[in-house]
Amino acid sequence: MGADIRAKSAREEARKAAREADRAEAEAWSIRMEGYGGPAQPSPTIGQCLDGGLGWLEVECNRCKTRASLPLYAIRRPRDTPIWKLEASLKCRSCRKGRSAPPVRIIKLTEAREVTPYKWVHPDEER
Ligand SMILES: [Zn+2]
Repeated sequence: MGADIRAKSAREEARKAAREADRAEAEAWSIRMEGYGGPAQPSPTIGQCLDGGLGWLEVECNRCKTRASLPLYAIRRPRDTPIWKLEASLKCRSCRKGRSAPPVRIIKLTEAREVTPYKWVHPDEER
């Protein structure tokens, strides 16, 4: 009985430690992107950002400079997809012309939505 409880609490501790590690990694990456403009690789994965509590990705269109917050939970990609891989598939709706669109820059990760995402094409919409 006692061993069961110890095992359970050890597992809890391990989960908590993993979440904290995910958050630390996501935060460090976000600071690097915002403060130094990269490098974007390597980056944490979608799952790590979500587990770490940084579930929003703020991006900027290189042409019109519009910024948007995108919810990572709504992006239908495998959870182990590195965040930097999303950059190429994000497009600004106002600047998009047919299949081509100016590049988008990742600004940072945030805990909550900071900018409205309405002008943006999500990676899923391409298919
Ligand atoms: Zn734009």
